[in-house]
Amino acid sequence: MTDAKTAPVLIDPTTKYPGPPFDTPKQSAPGTVHKLQPPADHGETSYEGHGRLKGRRALVTGGDSGIGRAAAIAFAREGAHVVITYLPSEEEDAREVIQLIEKEGVTAKGIPGDLKDEGFCRSLVKQASEVMGGLDILANVAGKQTHQKSIEDITTEQFDATFKTNVYAMFWLCKAALEVMPAGGTIINTASIQSYDPSAILLDYASTKAAIVAFTKALAGQVAERGIRVNAVAPGPVWTALQPSGGQPMDKLKDFGSHVPLKRPGQPVECAPVYVFFASDASSYVTGETYGVTGGNPLP
Ligand code: NAD
Ligand code: MG
Repeated sequence: MTDAKTAPVLIDPTTKYPGPPFDTPKQSAPGTVHKLQPPADHGETSYEGHGRLKGRRALVTGGDSGIGRAAAIAFAREGAHVVITYLPSEEEDAREVIQLIEKEGVTAKGIPGDLKDEGFCRSLVKQASEVMGGLDILANVAGKQTHQKSIEDITTEQFDATFKTNVYAMFWLCKAALEVMPAGGTIINTASIQSYDPSAILLDYASTKAAIVAFTKALAGQVAERGIRVNAVAPGPVWTALQPSGGQPMDKLKDFGSHVPLKRPGQPVECAPVYVFFASDASSYVTGETYGVTGGNPLP
């Protein structure tokens, strides 16, 4: 029997964070955390580390905001050195993350650039491993999402930029990272519920996310014998700048998250523990896996 004194503190996941209706302003891509209303939780004050990644060396793409920011903060709180990358226009968001990482007493560095450029991807991995004295965690979190009603509205430029950002950059970064990554190293890609249940208005984006799941499984099979594991996180609706900066039509954002069983969007910090799990030795027998953080819409 538990009495009131010993009863655990239980948190109801349906009311833990805000739910719809939302009224956040429209932004231009790539968007900033500062215009999100209500603000998102990336773990700035809420994520508590437990030394799970002590001394590890992590590169996190898209580490300035959203899910990448939450992963970068969590990795640092768990004791890892962290390099983040982001677009040059996102310097303000990135600075804040770098300061939070520095507070953990680990190496912290930001390297801005465009991941659509193969040369940048290669030099990013090289610089990151020089700064940290090696590289053993690669978290590919950066992504591009632009809704369009019809295939006629998707230009070749958009299709190309979405595939370059979401698929090619992951390929280039994995290729370069595998040249330096030792046994025990881990790669974490970012898929989506869209990999399996594509929205009609996200034709190009959903296609990239399906590709990421297949790429993750195939690469995991390839590098297993080298002692390197490759997994993917598949978020459902998460409260980030991606959505009001062209990811979703503004009228759809009003009830963002209402269609999942938990009836609210996830917060970036709620994805972080899965990145930490895949990065750490706790998942030593897990590779080629995709883990959903979807608010209850199951992955197939
Ligand atoms: P976000 O906008 O906060 O993060 C995306 C980041 O990608 C940006 O901060 C930017 O730094 C980076 N990026 C985009 N284009 C780039 C380029 N050309 N070069 C370098 N960096 C570039 O949004 P988020 O929602 O946190 O997105 C992170 C990942 O999560 C993405 O892969 C996204 O597809 C995925 N995801 C998000 C949701 C969601 O609902 N928010 C759901 C499923 C999957
Ligand atoms: Mg950003």
